[in-house]
Amino acid sequence: MGKADRYAELEEWLRSFLRERGWSEKEAARRASRIAEECRRLGILDAEARTLRCERCGHEWVYTGRLRRATCPSCGTKVLVKGVEE
Ligand SMILES: [Zn+2]
Repeated sequence: MGKADRYAELEEWLRSFLRERGWSEKEAARRASRIAEECRRLGILDAEARTLRCERCGHEWVYTGRLRRATCPSCGTKVLVKGVEE
């Protein structure tokens, strides 16, 4: 799935979310479009999410950063992120 598809998917989700909460079709589409556009501008869906596991304390979390070493939010140990170029 490409970048554009993820934002289109977000926009579609937002549109139905707003529709369910009583917004008109037109307003829901307009707002969903604006929010998706802002997310695209900020690039919030561009990062690849990885599930990391800390070797020291066993804590698992979803990491979307771009660093080669992530810090365990539980104990502060540096965890090597596989597949990230230095
Ligand atoms: Zn840890």
